[in-house]
Amino acid sequence: MLIMNNDVAISSLVRQNIRELVPYASARDEFSGSAEVYLDANENPHNPPLNRYPDPTQVHLKELIASMRGQHAGNLFLGNGSDEAIDLLFRVLCEPGQDCVITVDPTYGMYGVCAAVNDVQCISVLLRKDFSLDAGAVLAAVDESTKMIFLCSPNNPTSNSLEMGAMLEIIDKAPCMVVVDEAYIDFSSEHGLLSLVPEKKNLVVLQTLSKAWGLAGIRLGMAFAHPELIRYMSAVKYPYNVNSLSMAEAEKALGKEEEKKAWLENILLERERLSLDLSAFGFVERVFPTDSNFLLVRMKDARRIYSYLQNSGIIVRDRSSVPLCEGCLRITVGTSEENGLLLDALEKYEQDKQINKP
Ligand SMILES: *Cc1c(COP(=O)(O)O)cnc(C)c1O
Repeated sequence: MLIMNNDVAISSLVRQNIRELVPYASARDEFSGSAEVYLDANENPHNPPLNRYPDPTQVHLKELIASMRGQHAGNLFLGNGSDEAIDLLFRVLCEPGQDCVITVDPTYGMYGVCAAVNDVQCISVLLRKDFSLDAGAVLAAVDESTKMIFLCSPNNPTSNSLEMGAMLEIIDKAPCMVVVDEAYIDFSSEHGLLSLVPEKKNLVVLQTLSKAWGLAGIRLGMAFAHPELIRYMSAVKYPYNVNSLSMAEAEKALGKEEEKKAWLENILLERERLSLDLSAFGFVERVFPTDSNFLLVRMKDARRIYSYLQNSGIIVRDRSSVPLCEGCLRITVGTSEENGLLLDALEKYEQDKQINKP
């Protein structure tokens, strides 16, 4: 175990080649004001507005998102989904074949995939059986080569929020970056850790427009962190990593707070109804408490039910072979109509089972 305080110098965690990197300077980096005639980027003069390269620094959208979240734009990285931010964190911080990261499992699969792609070892620490976070176990797994600890809260696929106290203990004691993935924070009763970004140098908070904002298709993810780390991530990203269409859609959506609030209310109501109705089935052993927009449900014959639903045209996620999620399906909360169809299909499954009983 290697415990220090969290006053880590960010540059000491960054790979040497990245510290020394001279980033690509695009035409729009060299001149960012506004002019009458643009003959600097070899763009086609026809087909406006998509003939122009987008703003590589995403100044306007960053200002909008940062102010909505009560943060400074300098603390914000925007990427092609949170997945880009996750991958960039590996590329900025982790020396391939040498450094390692810690994931707290079961959790989102992309941390492990990005680790493997970047040839970085991924140490797995399990949540407790009740899906709570064991800060001591996580800290015990830290050593000199640990560059990041991934915490996902609310966690996918267990659907619960991790305890604030345990997360803070890890952030305060770990001598590395702690990445808290808050993809589902808008569905949660917790406030999340975003407000701590300005004071915790080793904290990275990931959020996304893919879930509560209903914009998975535009691929827009956010990383909030210390400006020094944001600068390294920005230096490594593709120059035009967020395209014009995505930026325009994001800006439109940010103006529709009311609509988003109504969606959220609806999803939370449906979540309660679905949770209650699922609990009533004889084959359902447990609907786990949820702080997100999906339910983790333990049932008898999970795999068979998964196939039965699939044959009825309803796709859920089979998590039955994931450690601690044995016998579980992960079910996203849909519209009232979609949830009704799911419940109807399960009703039918239960009846068929009665009929086929020996
Ligand atoms: C869905 C999800 C995301 C979203 O990723 P994007 O690339 O932003 O779409 C991130 N983290 C977790 C844990 C998720 O479940």
